[in-house]
Amino acid sequence: MSKSDFRSGAIDSVAKLHTPAGVAAAPVGMEYFSEDVFNDQAMRKYLPEAVAAKLLATVNDGAALDPAIAADVAHAMKHWAMDRGATHFTHWFLPLNGSTAEKHDSFLEIQNGQAIMAFSGKNLIMSEPDASSFPSGGLRSTFEARGYTAWDPTSPAFIKRHSNGATLCIPTAFCSYTGETLDKKTPLLRSNQALTKAVKRLMKCFDLPDAKVDITLGAEQEYFLIDKHFYLHRPDLLQTGRTLFGAPPAKHQQLEDHYFGSIKSRVLSFMTEVESELWKLGIPAKTRHNEGAPAQFELAPIFEKVNLAVDHNMLVMEVLRQVADRHSLVCLLHEKPFAGVNGSGKHNNWSVSYGDLNLLKPGKDPEQNAIFLTVLCGIIQAVDLHSDILRATVAGAGNDHRLGANEAPPAIISIYVGDQLNEVIEQLESGTRKVGKKLGKMQIGVDTLPLLPRDATDRNRTSPFAFTGNKFEFRAPGSSQCCAGPMMILNTIVADALDKIAAELENFDRKDFNNQLQKLLQRIIKTHKRVIFNGDNYTASWRKEAAKRGLPNAESTLEALEAFSNPENIELFARHGVFTAKEMESRHEIFGEEYRRKICIEGQVALEIVRSMILPAVTADFNDALAALNGARNSGVTAGCAGLRRTADKLGEGIDELVKRSERLSDAFTGDGSDILPALGALRETVDTLEGIVSDSRWPLPKYREMLFIY
Ligand code: ADP
Ligand code: MG
Repeated sequence: MSKSDFRSGAIDSVAKLHTPAGVAAAPVGMEYFSEDVFNDQAMRKYLPEAVAAKLLATVNDGAALDPAIAADVAHAMKHWAMDRGATHFTHWFLPLNGSTAEKHDSFLEIQNGQAIMAFSGKNLIMSEPDASSFPSGGLRSTFEARGYTAWDPTSPAFIKRHSNGATLCIPTAFCSYTGETLDKKTPLLRSNQALTKAVKRLMKCFDLPDAKVDITLGAEQEYFLIDKHFYLHRPDLLQTGRTLFGAPPAKHQQLEDHYFGSIKSRVLSFMTEVESELWKLGIPAKTRHNEGAPAQFELAPIFEKVNLAVDHNMLVMEVLRQVADRHSLVCLLHEKPFAGVNGSGKHNNWSVSYGDLNLLKPGKDPEQNAIFLTVLCGIIQAVDLHSDILRATVAGAGNDHRLGANEAPPAIISIYVGDQLNEVIEQLESGTRKVGKKLGKMQIGVDTLPLLPRDATDRNRTSPFAFTGNKFEFRAPGSSQCCAGPMMILNTIVADALDKIAAELENFDRKDFNNQLQKLLQRIIKTHKRVIFNGDNYTASWRKEAAKRGLPNAESTLEALEAFSNPENIELFARHGVFTAKEMESRHEIFGEEYRRKICIEGQVALEIVRSMILPAVTADFNDALAALNGARNSGVTAGCAGLRRTADKLGEGIDELVKRSERLSDAFTGDGSDILPALGALRETVDTLEGIVSDSRWPLPKYREMLFIY
């Protein structure tokens, strides 16, 4: 089959697809919500009452797990899972390669020659998967490949179904024999502890009674959907997740006609199935819409406790991919699958609550406002002091294409607080208190503290770290990234700031508390206000201004990852018990290595595509032009000769350029790798130009206009 045939074949297959109109699928009512989760209800049904109560105290209130209940819980879980068709179980974990891992074991055991289905407390609590091929950054050597998974009871077990059965999945932490963390969950749990401790300490200073601290995350997931027929003919998408070549079509997103547009029925049918799958897993998918780029979409859940929300987002990505496949679509989670149109991010909405009080919600009474402003100043201080490590958590080969392009926040970390809150901060800093123009009617607060706006909404979408009324929205994370990294870093740096503030408050004279608090917050703002920026983050003038303010701007992954070697950061993470120095160093090594490998793969795939697909197509066109030119000359026709000659020249020059630039790319592998991306970029330029010249029927790769518009 010639290439042209496969491309038109793919288009025909899409054309023949039809989604039945208006035929309601099997109803998915809320009674299905969480049906595949070993949740409160399942625990109460399958466990003795006392055991269920103990387990729930761990799950909901963070009480230490009583190891004596493990056998009962395992037994109940097995029955619950078998009632849902499960034959296997797996310890499900988040290794450092950024995806999820599972190794299945059946419940099968042979006892006295009899096959039985068994699942012990030990099976539940711990497992020793060999798992030696996961990155460890030197934390363990393969010859002593022991890695352990340990049950995380705070993220409930769930069932994963497939066409022929089901598997019981138990969320676990993954660590080495010597106890070093080899995963993304353990540091997150440690950082939760650190922040919880700091918040409790701070709240005590405000005379609040002890209450539960909840750190919450709502992760908005962006993604692309394209038809599988095209995908399978793009070796670059298959192997690297992004198109290494492809000229943007004349019309892409200029008209802004996709964003929030009406959703095509094929896509809606896909989304509906995704949601019903997620609801069964207890994942509160809430919002769906078309995004800015053609074929780009978003799914947002209702926020949950951060540990659960992180696991859930990993499942969201998996379900998106699987359901897409069933619909003959492919879900692309790469940060920049297509050049020239928007990439995909994953806004991490983050907040902290104490009992019923959302600490990031400006309150009505003065006391609450004082707490809000203190926490806010803590966050400003944290982000200013440690923006380097916050930036490092979103570093990666994919996200490099997004940060810094004029569509996503730049690599410079700054905080947006909005005009209203900015006015409050200015008042706080200057010590004056006035009703500002933008503030409108205000509640009267404590005299020493400024008034708070009633509604601080966010209208600036360009900021990497924005206050959005009752939470912060960290917008730099990439669509494919695990939220555990950014959340863990944010928790830790904020824990540190709140801890330091609490240490000062503890020494205040109680009679003069508000005054001294005001002075402390004033000092924090004076010292750290350089990190606040309410303007357009996409502009060159902000880059200049940020440099003047001394804000770091690590434009590439390798540069950003240096933050993991910064002695101050190493000391900070050790002090809060989140990372040992060795664990910090291992992250530096693993993420750097992952980056280098990805770039290398991209270079190799590009070379192969050019040499085995593009060059032959251009050569064939070149041959045709030469043959036509010769034919014309031989028959004495002069018309067309000049044009054919020019065409042949262009194609010939294209061939020369392709060969020259391929050689440059090929040479780039022998150096330190830093020239691979620039060489790939240069090669892409030539290929993309040729795409507009070479006959459409010969072009060997599905084009952007096909992938982005035909589905
Ligand atoms: P946007 O304006 O960014 O489109 P929304 O206001 O709808 O978004 O909220 C975005 C996300 O923020 C949702 O996932 C929502 O559940 C989450 N969110 C809301 N409140 C909190 C909170 N207190 N903590 C964490 N996430 C929150
Ligand atoms: Mg958002």
